[in-house]
This record gives sequence, structure tokens and C-alpha cells, in this order.
Amino acid sequence: MTSGSKFRVGICGAGIGGLTLAVALARYPDIEVVIYEGAQKLGEIGAGIGLFSRPWELICKLGLDEELLKATEIRPVDGPVSTFNYRLSDRPEGLEFFTLVTKGNLMTFHRPDFQNALLRKLPRSTKIYCSKRLLSYTQRPTGPVELYFEDGSTATCDLLVGADGLKSAVRRSMFTDKAKVAQSEKRMKEAGEYEASIEPTWCGTNAYRALIPTERLNARHPGHRVFTQPTQYLGKNGYVIAYPIAKGKLINFVAFTARHDLEGTKFNGPWVSPVDSSEVTEMYRSWEPEVKALMDCIERPLRWAINTVRPLSTYVHGKVAIIGDAAHASPPHQGSGAAQAIEDAFVLALALGHASTTRENLPRALDIYDRVRRPVAHDVHERNRINGQYFTFHHTPLDEDISTEETLRRLQDLSYRFTKNWEWAWSTSAEPVVREALELLNSS
Ligand SMILES: Cc1cc2nc3c(=O)[nH]c(=O)nc-3n(C[C@H](O)[C@H](O)[C@H](O)COP(=O)(O)OP(=O)(O)OC[C@H]3O[C@@H](n4cnc5c(N)ncnc54)[C@H](O)[C@@H]3O)c2cc1C
Repeated sequence: MTSGSKFRVGICGAGIGGLTLAVALARYPDIEVVIYEGAQKLGEIGAGIGLFSRPWELICKLGLDEELLKATEIRPVDGPVSTFNYRLSDRPEGLEFFTLVTKGNLMTFHRPDFQNALLRKLPRSTKIYCSKRLLSYTQRPTGPVELYFEDGSTATCDLLVGADGLKSAVRRSMFTDKAKVAQSEKRMKEAGEYEASIEPTWCGTNAYRALIPTERLNARHPGHRVFTQPTQYLGKNGYVIAYPIAKGKLINFVAFTARHDLEGTKFNGPWVSPVDSSEVTEMYRSWEPEVKALMDCIERPLRWAINTVRPLSTYVHGKVAIIGDAAHASPPHQGSGAAQAIEDAFVLALALGHASTTRENLPRALDIYDRVRRPVAHDVHERNRINGQYFTFHHTPLDEDISTEETLRRLQDLSYRFTKNWEWAWSTSAEPVVREALELLNSS
């Protein structure tokens, strides 16, 4: 450990959560940070990411906005903005029924640009080791946390943060330990709950992701709506979302296919894999021409079987914490998973950097992080799940024999409900959570 440092934080995973935490901790020069990334080199998948005003406020507080604004043409505004167009699209003739107006705009980026902006903000003192895939860790009441990697090497740190995503090895180790202790004390129900927290489950939905070169789409469908207006095309058991990124050079495309009856089951097959485009275009073949034009432009989309982590009873254990998808991977129907990882990172860094936090009382800082962040993340998880149902008309029959008037009435009702369920993302701020954490940190 460098002389003069208060304690050493090991971050497992250099995704958006892990890197944001490292940037946030850089404000406290007496905290040493080492990042261990499992992949051979750093790299986000080439897809889009959108952030509403709630996480954007934190991005500004971390001083990341200047770097990020270089990667997008969108300029943040405070007032009302038309963010998404909504169309009823699972029929030959689509119907526009709603415009989502948000407070402030959705800031959209190409993920590799986003990651590069975070990397540029890291101080030289932050060490990043690649090809360091964590298998497990051990901790004792005193002494450092010991980390064990797939390549046979080991390392130690005073505090371990698992920012290692959906399949988190840190979460696995944490809940395996907790289950063992509960078993040894004959608390069998609790042990069962801990064990059930380890493996993610499939939410019955797949997302097919692709980046469409704008030129290609323009050649097939000159002046396509999505060049100027981010759009969600809704239908029974599926929806498509498309918006421009990379200063308009690419269209971020995601098509969802939902089997709500399979929620909570195990997905058979790889969770992320390139597939033949026919796997998704088949379901959309009777949708409106605008959607078919998008489908015509995708080649070998990446299929993401959407797996989620059940709401956990804690995000911390002793000197170990989990953040981001490792703690609360949710269905992505409100574009808020990375945003929630950013919020975790912000609050955790605040707790660790607080003057009252020392190497000896780290569990106290982690408990405060857990106490303020977990209820919010769980609420967001449920809201995402519900929006997934709204967007695929799970409880809203809209068969073609229903009159246009009645269809519009049901769609208006649906728009009202999904907006209400989602508006936290742009009409609320993380400030009360930050304030609560500070009050707890300042109290004896
Ligand atoms: C289709 C789709 C669209 C989405 N759109 C949005 C959006 O618009 N806005 C938004 O906010 N969110 C969105 N999300 C959610 C968002 O992508 C995730 O919530 C976010 O990336 C989670 O970040 P993370 O850092 O927690 O995890 P990850 O991004 O998964 O990063 C984990 C890192 O840990 C590394 N790692 C894994 N295991 C180990 C190990 N054992 N040892 C060491 N390193 C390891 C990985 O290689 C990776 O670098 C979307 C998700 C999907 C599926």
C-alpha cells in the first residue's frame, strides 16, 4: 500500500459501474484504487446507451460531462423535451399514438465512447489489470480481503467492490458464504434464500441488438423517422426501440421478443450470442413497413437473453460490497441499469471518502451505502419489469377487430400508465439519497 493512503479498494470489473466508482474515488487521493478486469482488454460492446436527467446530474457532479459531450451532438436542456415517439406497429399500417415528453433530454452515446470518456478521467495512480478474472474471495474479521483469480494468482485489498456484472463472482462468493453460515446455525430458510440469490434467472425476454449504419438505412428507406426522432414501435409480445448515436452515423437498434409465461425460468443456450437475423425478423414480418425497413438492415444481431438478479437482502458483507448489475441486474425497459450503477458508484464513493471512514470502520460505510441505495434499486427493478409488460401489451388486448376509437383509448390509458411508472427517471434527483447518506455518515 502506498504510504499515506487511508485504505486500498479493489474493484472487480471495469464496466460502467466499476470505472465510475474509480473516477468518483479519484476525488479522495488518500484512497488507493486497483481495478481487476476479467477480459483481456478493456472494451464495451458496440451498442447505444441512454441517460436521463437523474444520472446526468451525477455525471456533471463527477466532472464527466465535458468529456462525454465530445461524443454526442445532443446538448442537455432543462425544460420539456419530446424524447420518444410511440407507434402501434404490429400491423401493416402503423399508428402514432403518443409522444413521451421528459424533463431534460435522454443523453445517448455509443458505449465505447462512454467507456473511453471514463478512462480518460482516471488518474494515473489508478492501476488497471486485465485478464484478472476473479473466482472467489475470502475475508476474516481482521486483515485484508484475499482475492483468487482464474490464472492462479492472488491479491489483497482492504475493501473489495464487485462491479462484475450479471454473473458476478463477488455476489456468488458473498452469498455462498452467507448461506454456509446460516446453514451452520440451522437457519435453513435463510440459507435457501441466500442460495437462490446467486444465480440470475431469465425474465422470458430476449433483446436483439444491432447498430445500423445510417447510410444503409437511408438507402433502403430515405428519410426514415428514426434519423430525427427516437421511436419505440410497440406490438403484442414485442417492441423495437431505435435512435441515432455516434453523432448520427449509427442507429442503435434493439428488438425485444417476450414470453411472459417463461419469466423466472432458465434460458437454455448462451446468454449473449450473435444469431441469424431471421431469428428476430420472423416475429416481426407482419409489422408496419418502417419496422421492416429497420429489420432489413440488421446483420447477425447479438441476442441477449435478459437475465436478472432477484431483489437481494443485502449488497454488502463485512468489507465487501456489490454494485451495478452484480447487485441488481434488472430488465432494461427503462434504460436505467447503467444509470443505477452510476448512482451506486456515486453514493459508495461518498461513503468511502467521508472523513469519518477509516480502514477499521469500513463495514459502517458499506452499511450506509446498502441502506440508502438498495430500496431505490429494487423499486427501479420492479418499474422496469412493469414497463416491459406495458410495452408488449401484456394486459392490454389490442386485436385488429377493436374499433380505432377504442384502440386509441386503450393506448392513451397505456401511455399514461407507462409514463407514470417511468417518470422517476427524469422528474426525480438522486440528491435526497445522497443527502440521507451524508446525514448517516455525519451522525455518530
Ligand atoms: C438491451 C439493453 C439495453 C440497455 N440500455 C441501457 C440504457 O439505455 N441506459 C442504461 O442506463 N442502461 C442500459 N442497459 C443496462 C446496462 O447495460 C447495464 O445495467 C450496465 O452496463 C451495468 O454495468 P456494470 O458495470 O454493473 O456491469 P457490466 O457492464 O456487465 O460490467 C461488468 C464488468 O466486469 C467484468 N467481469 C465480469 N466478471 C468478472 C470477473 N469474475 N472478474 C473480473 N472482471 C469481471 C466484465 O468483463 C465487465 O467489464 C441496457 C441493457 C441491455 C441488455
